[in-house]
Amino acid sequence: MSYIVEFVDVGKYYGNIRALSGVSLGVKAKAVTCILGDNGAGKSTLIKIISGLHSHDEGSYLVDGEEARFSSPRDALDRGIATVYQDLAVVSLMPVWRNFFLGSEQTVGRGPLRRLDVERMRSTADAELRQMGIDLPDIDQPIGTLSGGQRQCVAIARAIYFGARVLILDEPTAALGVKQSGVVLKYVAAARDAGLGVIFITHNPHHAFMVGDHFVVLRQGQVELDTARADLSLDDLTHHMAGGAELEALRHELDRLDTPDMGALHETTTR
Ligand code: ADP
Repeated sequence: MSYIVEFVDVGKYYGNIRALSGVSLGVKAKAVTCILGDNGAGKSTLIKIISGLHSHDEGSYLVDGEEARFSSPRDALDRGIATVYQDLAVVSLMPVWRNFFLGSEQTVGRGPLRRLDVERMRSTADAELRQMGIDLPDIDQPIGTLSGGQRQCVAIARAIYFGARVLILDEPTAALGVKQSGVVLKYVAAARDAGLGVIFITHNPHHAFMVGDHFVVLRQGQVELDTARADLSLDDLTHHMAGGAELEALRHELDRLDTPDMGALHETTTR
């Protein structure tokens, strides 16, 4: 199957800082591609390029096999590439349905008689959320009263409704507890099952492994690992995430500290 979104040897600089270098990867429809990496690995830079916020300096960015040069996120959105950011752009005091249509409001009437089609937006949002299995007590409640997990789910349903083919989720579970993370992961899988190519950014290998079909680990702006689920265990993924070799070195270091010579330990830890 061909890729919806593909990077070939992509590089990106911020002044002298090389944020990405020689990055090649592909995103397929009906699959969750997880992008993992420690802080500073280049995850945000990667999604900013895919979502049209930044442009790359080297290599090619292909959408449906054709070179894409986006000058704004609107261009990316027009090609069906939607991003749900961690700090969701919602208006807390407005009802859930109103936020569902934020920026794409439906109206009735013409000219001076044009007004919001409240009933249509309410019932559409309600039906869409139900269809995704998102059960909210009240579609009229201010979105600010929902849990972080519920807000993420509304954002995912919204992107699907507005025709996203590629859904980028920027650390959707980072600020959530275990139970809420589980709920969001369920909708990540639901978006995949609805046929979307999901790009799931996270630094949590456990969350990635629960829903991922494909895993790309970035390290210092380069692809450190790119593999399908079938070829990888959770242990392998965690090992790569933690920077395998460095973790081994640290373990040896700690083993060495585990000696009866407490004087040496004290010296090492306070140095
Ligand atoms: P991640 O999202 O994985 O934490 P980033 O993509 O934010 O990584 O960062 C990759 C590298 O690029 C880091 O070294 C970071 O300091 C640098 N960087 C990111 N954004 C900017 C910017 N706007 N200006 C300068 N350097 C940046």
